[in-house]
Amino acid sequence: MTMIVQKYGGTSVGSVERIQAVAKRIYKRVQAGNRLVVVVSAMGKTTDTLVKLANEISSNPSRREMDMLLSTGEQVTIALLSMALQELGQPAVSLTGAQVGIVTEAEHSRARILEIKTERIEKHLDQGQVIVVAGFQGVSESRELEITTLGRGGSDTSAVAIAAALKASCCEIYTDVPGILTTDPRIVPEAQLMPEVTSDEMLELASLGAKVLHPRAVEIAKNYGVPLVVRSSWTDEPGTKVTSVAVDNRPLLDLEITNAVDGVEFDLDQARVAMLHIPDRPGVAAKLFGEIASHNVDVDLIIQSIHDGNSNDIAFTVTEKDADQAQKIVAAIAPTLCEEVGQTADDVMVKTSSDIAKITISGAGMIGRPGIAATMFQSLADAGINIEMISTSEVKVSCVIQQADRDQAIATLCDVFEIASSALTASPTAQAQTEAPAVRGIALDLKQAQLAIRHVPDAPGMAAKIFTLLAQQNISVDMIIQSQRCRVRNGINTRDIACTVAQSDAEAARLALSGIAEQLDFGEIEVNPAIAKVSVVGSGMIGAPGIAAKLFQALADDNINIQMITTSEIKISCVVPEEQGKEALQLVHKAFDLAGEAKVEMPA
Ligand code: ASP
Ligand code: MG
Repeated sequence: MTMIVQKYGGTSVGSVERIQAVAKRIYKRVQAGNRLVVVVSAMGKTTDTLVKLANEISSNPSRREMDMLLSTGEQVTIALLSMALQELGQPAVSLTGAQVGIVTEAEHSRARILEIKTERIEKHLDQGQVIVVAGFQGVSESRELEITTLGRGGSDTSAVAIAAALKASCCEIYTDVPGILTTDPRIVPEAQLMPEVTSDEMLELASLGAKVLHPRAVEIAKNYGVPLVVRSSWTDEPGTKVTSVAVDNRPLLDLEITNAVDGVEFDLDQARVAMLHIPDRPGVAAKLFGEIASHNVDVDLIIQSIHDGNSNDIAFTVTEKDADQAQKIVAAIAPTLCEEVGQTADDVMVKTSSDIAKITISGAGMIGRPGIAATMFQSLADAGINIEMISTSEVKVSCVIQQADRDQAIATLCDVFEIASSALTASPTAQAQTEAPAVRGIALDLKQAQLAIRHVPDAPGMAAKIFTLLAQQNISVDMIIQSQRCRVRNGINTRDIACTVAQSDAEAARLALSGIAEQLDFGEIEVNPAIAKVSVVGSGMIGAPGIAAKLFQALADDNINIQMITTSEIKISCVVPEEQGKEALQLVHKAFDLAGEAKVEMPA
């Protein structure tokens, strides 16, 4: 018999009728010969209502009492759903997190799962019962047996963790949307359902998919190779499959206590081409990378740093064999780019260096954990290694360093992040997936602000200082870019560093950095909240030249200026002016042929 774990979200169990409909769905699956464990959320908006109640009594209720309160929501649903199943003649039993043995850290309101005991579930399954489990809650490992919760949206995490522990053949997440869409349908009505997406892509699309599927749940699915399906509980449509590579026998103890970083990758076969002082105008990146793609040269990292008024720096990496050609293409096109804005090409500098190495740390666990990039920068600084390029994505941080520093950098990073040598790989690790579409989905993030720190002395340890400070303030940093250009100020070489943070953190970040600016001799610190970040994600883009060019062209066609660019293997992100963000999303979605005719029904 096939073991299936299902999870039903709040709206799917929002009323008696909905609970009865869900019970019928479960009953049918059992009749078809499956063993079912069903994880549920609190009914409808129950959890929000409970939070409001608490806030009417206290502006700062204790986290322990909040857990005691919020965990009741799920307990209502499990009892009602079990009754509904029993009414259908289906034996069923409801269990709280503690009764199952969902053991967590003793960390109220944000506990991580340590272990899931399966004996009791298995016993009831053997008796032919459906097990209905309260999501979002667990019990602390301490002797006190405290009730804990996993954090808002946590029942996805409960479900996937149970599926991993039971080695279920599949975990089905039932929700009120038909699955995961290519982009936000409220902005792009032509968004289509993705039939399939990888867990890596899902993690990179965090800002698009997090509402539908909690990133912590995706992380567990990836770590344990649990196949997921996200689908509507209103229909029989197949929904979206979230695939992960199968994993053998990863220990189930300390299930969610994974290292933030689980791999270090390096790539020696890289050359960097940097162009300084190219015009800051819409269309420049498009022309440049369009030209490079037309010669079939595959570009790996691309960064475009903040500009100083009227010119930009763009740097990218290619394999060493392509370096000469890339340099020639760039040099040839520079005059045209300048001519168009009446600038002379004399200022433009093109520099190619092939004595570089790219070092990348990766891990799903770095989402929402500030300080991982800072730790990387700090340990490189401690080893006296200068960082020449930085590029970040949701689950990766890459640094370009001197090739001569490679071995030391690897040793340092493996040591700091406790990476076994088996997790050390020469990139590209991600296999080019020829069948996978180059671009799977597009995310728009309107909640970020850009933070620029001018004139940071070009010495090892500066990036480390900046990002350690932000991490200490619990500020998560998203894109990080260090400019290519060195400018001399007060007799020393300086670079600009820019990053994006949540808008709500921007002021705190500015204040914190202002506090160290004088001591470290930084220039101005500027905050620009009026930005939008557009990211295209797809594992098929590895080794497929022209994806970046197409993205930049779509933006150029509408005269949208790109303020920052960062890339990872399966993602390209651009910062554009906030007021053009939605338009940018629509255009890019269309440019990659993701728009479709099929009408995707969305709940009001
Ligand atoms: N009921 C909890 C919440 O609303 C957990 C969940 O539904 O995933 O956050
Ligand atoms: Mg949810």
